[in-house]
Amino acid sequence: MRRREEDEAVASWLVAAGRGDEPGAPLNTPLVPASNFVLGAGRAYARSDGTPTWAALEELVGGLEQGHAVAFASGMAAVAAVFAELGAGAMVTLPEDCYQGVSGLAEAGRRQGRWSVDRLPLEDTAAWIAAAGESDLVWIETPSNPLLVVADLAAICAAPRRPGAILAVDNTFATPLNQQPLRLGADVAVHSATKLIGGHSDLLAGVAVAKDEAGRARLAAARALAGATPGALEAYLAVRGARTLALRLERSQRTALLLAERLAAHPAIERVRYPGLASHPTHAVAAAQLAGFGSVLCFEVAGGADPADAACRRVRLIRHATSLGGVESTLERRSAVPGQEHLPAGLVRLSVGIEDPEDLWRDLARALV
Ligand SMILES: *Cc1c(COP(=O)(O)O)cnc(C)c1O
Repeated sequence: MRRREEDEAVASWLVAAGRGDEPGAPLNTPLVPASNFVLGAGRAYARSDGTPTWAALEELVGGLEQGHAVAFASGMAAVAAVFAELGAGAMVTLPEDCYQGVSGLAEAGRRQGRWSVDRLPLEDTAAWIAAAGESDLVWIETPSNPLLVVADLAAICAAPRRPGAILAVDNTFATPLNQQPLRLGADVAVHSATKLIGGHSDLLAGVAVAKDEAGRARLAAARALAGATPGALEAYLAVRGARTLALRLERSQRTALLLAERLAAHPAIERVRYPGLASHPTHAVAAAQLAGFGSVLCFEVAGGADPADAACRRVRLIRHATSLGGVESTLERRSAVPGQEHLPAGLVRLSVGIEDPEDLWRDLARALV
């Protein structure tokens, strides 16, 4: 196992991480389906001590974020491990636009009296700076799901926090290739590896990355207590998928910008939301902060739900499916999802894959007539 050199490019690290280098070691990450290990060498039981396959995923993502990673059964398991650190009566600050699983978890804990929840618009940097001084958990998701609002992470991370407070960033949409929250001063970065890191819509996994070893140990303890452990095959597939993350992301976000520009000029479209467009409300901070604008965009179909649903049914190359970050493009009308009714009725979220850009545009244009 190796550590990433400071100047080693992420594209190289993605390929090299998580491989053994002793003579005779398999070149690829071994898939180790083991619950227990022969005693005497430190690793005894997988739930508490991990496995070599989880360790490969942790080395890979930890190196990308330049932190200390713990692999989980899903993105939500990683999120829940961060929330598990909160004491009774804690104050949580959450974005108004936020992954629905995370708002659901926060809301469930609030109803049980475990913590209070304050929701702020991500673009209101001053409000977040003020909240950082009062919250026990500052939870930032940027770009956010689904409206792709970009928070000024550097400014919020630099604000004074309460002693013991946690500033966590859901980095799923940006990936560590576009943004490294720990480098900007966050305490924890969280990923749904189900999405871009895995990249093939064939697994559920999550990773939380702490800025230091003490933070890693707390996350690993939370994983052991909750039993929120990744499967061996899932960890193997996440590493295998991540090998091509740099190529996939580069292609997908180049296509996403092209499609966003063309959709913005299409008569059937009322509004396009993509951080790479100058018309996006947080374009300036996105351009300053992100190495790339990401593979997800949203467009609002004129006329609302019915024409948007019709377009979702008419696409052929693009698949009508939820989730995002796979090699295949998917789209979905978000306010049709239970719990997402507050979103504009005609808003469609498009996750751009690696297909030929002109084929994707033809498919969209045909579906939108
Ligand atoms: C999907 C997602 C999650 C949850 O991840 P799962 O792997 O589905 O549990 C968390 N945050 C964001 C931004 C996501 O898109």
